[in-house]
Amino acid sequence: MRKLAEACEQIANTTKKLEKTAIVADYLKSRTPEDGAASVVFLSGRPFPVWEETTLQVGGTLLWRTVAELSGKTEQELRAAYRRHGDLGAVAGEVLQVSISRQPSPLDVQGKFREIAAARGPAAKGALVRELLSQVTPLEAKYIIKIMTGDLRIGLKENLVEEAIAKAYRGTLAEVQRANMLLGDLRETLKLAIAGKLAQARMRLFHPLGFMLASPAESAEEALSYFENASVEDKYDGIRAQAHIAGGEVRIFSRTRDEITKSFPELPDALAGLPQDAILDGEIVAWSYLAGETGRALPFSALQQRLGRKKVSDEMIRRVPVAYLVFDVLYAGGDLLIDRPLRERGKILNELLSGPRKPVKARSTGAQGRLTFDSEEQTAPAPVIRAPVFQAASPKELDQLFEAAQARGNEGLMIKDPGSAYTPGKRGKSWLKLKRELATLDVVVTAVEYGHGKRIGVLSDYTFAVWDGDRLVNIGKAYSGLTDAEIAEMSKWFLEHTVEDQGFRLIVEPKIVLEVAFNNMMRSGRHESGYALRFPRIVRIRQDKLAEDADRIERVREIYDHQRN
Ligand code: AMP
Repeated sequence: MRKLAEACEQIANTTKKLEKTAIVADYLKSRTPEDGAASVVFLSGRPFPVWEETTLQVGGTLLWRTVAELSGKTEQELRAAYRRHGDLGAVAGEVLQVSISRQPSPLDVQGKFREIAAARGPAAKGALVRELLSQVTPLEAKYIIKIMTGDLRIGLKENLVEEAIAKAYRGTLAEVQRANMLLGDLRETLKLAIAGKLAQARMRLFHPLGFMLASPAESAEEALSYFENASVEDKYDGIRAQAHIAGGEVRIFSRTRDEITKSFPELPDALAGLPQDAILDGEIVAWSYLAGETGRALPFSALQQRLGRKKVSDEMIRRVPVAYLVFDVLYAGGDLLIDRPLRERGKILNELLSGPRKPVKARSTGAQGRLTFDSEEQTAPAPVIRAPVFQAASPKELDQLFEAAQARGNEGLMIKDPGSAYTPGKRGKSWLKLKRELATLDVVVTAVEYGHGKRIGVLSDYTFAVWDGDRLVNIGKAYSGLTDAEIAEMSKWFLEHTVEDQGFRLIVEPKIVLEVAFNNMMRSGRHESGYALRFPRIVRIRQDKLAEDADRIERVREIYDHQRN
């Protein structure tokens, strides 16, 4: 682990990508394949490979306390160090004493991470973390903590690790990328590269592939400027889901590549009967049967009640029914389809979803989809619906489709290039999203935190609130949107108007009003207001408004109720 920590330090000290990849390549060549495999995962900034469900579940507070205990520093000294560095790993590197390192290898550290993940409760986890950190040098501790908190920040993303693997072993970058995309695992990719067998990488069912991502378009004109004759679909507001179906087995993965099959017990049955093995891409949405025979999608806030539950009761399944709106197919009947153009994949998908299957009580064929199922039945399979595709060649046509999509209660449109391949994990201009902005809120800043990365030492993370009677109740937290100059000015003001210094956080005088935009509003116990904003971002500082002019909880309720219709 010492060598890896030293390599990380060197990587952090150069901004040149070529130098970074050369350091990683040299490092990998000096290690055994097993240590190399553990290291590539760490170098991509994670304790475990992306597709694994394992999480450490060790919070910042536990790490903070452990570092305090092992270093013998006072709370004040630690806070001062935190302010200088902006991350706990770097703080540990500075304040921990030099101890005799047991010289654990990356493989040993990975083993310890697994023990920590498996331990139940903060006491058990804490003991293991202490044991690990007391056996390593301060530099190793620095990087172990950075990996644990997912805050490696040495300017090395997964794609640079791929480049380093290509550089270290015989193989082109394209081969490494393809193998990693198909396997979804840098360790396996490294092993194939070492063996010179990258070309043998095969897609593995039940290992999620990366999701193709969309770029925002500001207007209908812009959306049509990249390609002609766009394929247009409604933009459904649910959660992205990749379904793997083979030999009657079904597993569903979220955009973070976590398995979410158990959260939607009504989906596997509906998918298991497909005529061929397949990987589908689509959106799981809350589904309303009230709006007519075939039903329609509801906004994310409705689906939210279904999320984050260990077990989904039959009652919940009936109360918040879901549907799977499928818009792409990545693999079918033994063929990987991602390099085929969208129009071809679309045809294959149509056949797959309309072909014979072992349907459970097919009820009707409607405009929204080909198959629906009887919702009255106890755990009837959820509808699996081919997302309808429209064509648009002019901004006027696109505007009409946009209005129609909104009238159906959907978020906006997805505009796709019919000639484009499916590019896993990439955001390009082949898929564009056109959305409506929800109303913005004017909020009051109540607490601030120091930022990360290039925002170290400045107060750039703001917690904000709205009025409930004459009380301010927090509703969210935002990090982005202001310029560096504005943040610098704000930092100065906040430091001069701090009411309470909580170390990580400063409680400030509630005087600054911000206008925040967001994608959606949800009910949430996380904030005092009982609501939370999805993807909040600061639009501007409302210098023209006093705190008392900020929005009230009634306005929040109004927006929330409005988005449900
Ligand atoms: P955003 O989350 O705002 O970046 O928008 C992209 C997301 O929209 C995707 O990741 C999907 O979860 C979702 N989405 C909804 N409908 C579609 C669709 N028809 N095609 C692709 N993505 C969609």
